[in-house]
Amino acid sequence: MIKIIKLCPVCGGKGKFFNQKCPSCKGQSGSLSKLNKEIKEAIELNRAKFNEQENRLLEYYLNGFPQDEIARKSDLTLAKTLLLFYQIQKKINSA
Ligand SMILES: [Zn+2]
Repeated sequence: MIKIIKLCPVCGGKGKFFNQKCPSCKGQSGSLSKLNKEIKEAIELNRAKFNEQENRLLEYYLNGFPQDEIARKSDLTLAKTLLLFYQIQKKINSA
């Protein structure tokens, strides 16, 4: 299974990124994994599954931007950005 989102070890991602104020992740429930070869290949293999917004986020991700920067460039909150990446992760891991 490809992990693009690392869930917060304290709250385990409970609440799925919706404003639950965990002291460890401050309600974000997780963070974006560092890009590696495996993730890169999985993204390329699953290109057809992503919509326009997801492709734009992935473009930033593949270009090495950190999660805060991706959120800012996309005009989204960090929590929303992480939620979208969580959906991308689900698409990648569904056969
Ligand atoms: Zn947490």
